[in-house]
Amino acid sequence: MEREWTPVIDQHATCIAVNPLQGCPKACVYCFLNERGLTNVRPQEIANPEATLRQLLASRFYESHRVLALYTWTDVMVSEESRQHLIGLLKLMRQARLPNVVTLITKAYITDRVLDAIARAREDGIRVIVYLSYSGMGPEIERGVSHARLRQNFARLQDRSIPIIHYWRPVFPESAVLETMTHVLDLAVKHAHCSIVAGLKVEQKARVRLAQYWPELLDHPGVETAEGVYPAEFWKFVLTPPARYSDYPIYHSNSCALAYVLQREEHLALFGTPVCTVRNRCPFEQRQRCQVGIRNLPPLQRDTVAEHLKKLGYVDVIFDIDVDTRTMHLAAPIPTNVLSALTQSLGARVSALRDPNDSYWNSGIAGAQPLVLHRRLD
Ligand code: SF4
Repeated sequence: MEREWTPVIDQHATCIAVNPLQGCPKACVYCFLNERGLTNVRPQEIANPEATLRQLLASRFYESHRVLALYTWTDVMVSEESRQHLIGLLKLMRQARLPNVVTLITKAYITDRVLDAIARAREDGIRVIVYLSYSGMGPEIERGVSHARLRQNFARLQDRSIPIIHYWRPVFPESAVLETMTHVLDLAVKHAHCSIVAGLKVEQKARVRLAQYWPELLDHPGVETAEGVYPAEFWKFVLTPPARYSDYPIYHSNSCALAYVLQREEHLALFGTPVCTVRNRCPFEQRQRCQVGIRNLPPLQRDTVAEHLKKLGYVDVIFDIDVDTRTMHLAAPIPTNVLSALTQSLGARVSALRDPNDSYWNSGIAGAQPLVLHRRLD
């Protein structure tokens, strides 16, 4: 299969993705890298740490308040070469006194050397947060992943006071059973700040392959355009978990999980939306923080919007704004990365015409909805 690469720097729904290494030695069934020829391969270096930092700072998406997600097209903890790259990049970020929050995500064991590098970065003021991706899946789906070692990460990170967000994604029917879900959540509650849940993204070219593990995916309408697909049992469990988890925050939006961990207001204008009021289990203090944050935002002004659009490479775009509801609509096809950047800069809900070439169109920021699937009884 021909390999497909992503830009080293790009804006994703919540974070600026930084991808100087691409390709993963593992081959989890659900991974989008399967369709890009980038599983079961050695990570390829697209940019060394110096070039990575240079490209980041020069990017049209770069702002000091944006969160960075490092190495989202590989699992950086898997190989010695990629761990060295990470250690080098963190060192440069420390030297540059980079003000951004930095996030890492992994399913692999985090070595002592990497823990040291993260702890050092945090001591120097770089707020590194680690997402541990753990959904209680078996080796059939997460091939080559040692779940015993992955589980050890929780306590090891906590011992070093490195904040953890438990990333509960995706969940297939095999792991949407009460015993597995409580096993997963018991561990998270003990060590993580909060959990974020997300559904399975199903691209058209992956659908038949994924349906081998989840047969309902094959012919159910809306699977490919959903924000994420969830087994009904999992959906119910995370919306109404057993009483013993009632104080533990569970989010459906990454931006809210980050706001909670960083103790600041949410940055994607989600306050008061159904994700905030119905889906997220968010503590009272955090809700107050967001409410105050919204009140303190400067009024939405046409000049400011035009200025931000220009920085993102869009001039002469026709747009409507509603100052009272802090919403705006752009009468032009705009890709999701630009929508996301604009939303974060303005603290406003932004909609636009669909860009037909946009690979991120079915994200929540672009208005896609979750799809909950029940087991077929045949
Ligand atoms: S109050 Fe709402 S918008 Fe703010 S973090 Fe909680 S769930 Fe998200």
